[in-house]
Amino acid sequence: MSEPHCHHAQSPREVASLVETCIDQLRARGLRRSRGLDALLQHMAAHHHPATLADLARVDSLAGLDQATIYRLVMKLESAGLVRRRGLHDRATYFQLVVPGHHHDYLVCTVCGRIEDIELSCPVEPLEREVMARSGYTHVYHELGFFGICPECARHAASVS
Ligand SMILES: [Zn+2]
Ligand SMILES: [Zn+2]
Repeated sequence: MSEPHCHHAQSPREVASLVETCIDQLRARGLRRSRGLDALLQHMAAHHHPATLADLARVDSLAGLDQATIYRLVMKLESAGLVRRRGLHDRATYFQLVVPGHHHDYLVCTVCGRIEDIELSCPVEPLEREVMARSGYTHVYHELGFFGICPECARHAASVS
């Protein structure tokens, strides 16, 4: 699998401020921080492409956390609205930190379940602003999911048939 990369290169300063914003929001909800939670936020802020729980369990900086603990922490972040789910949930659920001001439209392989961020500027943003203006809603976001067969799965299908 090709290395997932992020088109929003983040400086250490941006990562630190993102982590701080998340911790403030958790604190406002009365959630206690822990070393594990801090390490997870730090990782997800620095690498905010979609990751499965198994991906997260393999991260060196999270080596002290088992997969059940990571799951519990990710659920905490999700219920606080800081993490969103991506992908085909029956095959692989990916989690991604919400980054204010950035959103990720994505592409999912319906065969292997891999997910990639789409590296194109989003045509829906003007529509999103219009929806907000007309509806009076705040915190509006959208996600576009595109589904198809990835090049690797297409190659594999061609070689077995
Ligand atoms: Zn695939
Ligand atoms: Zn979009």
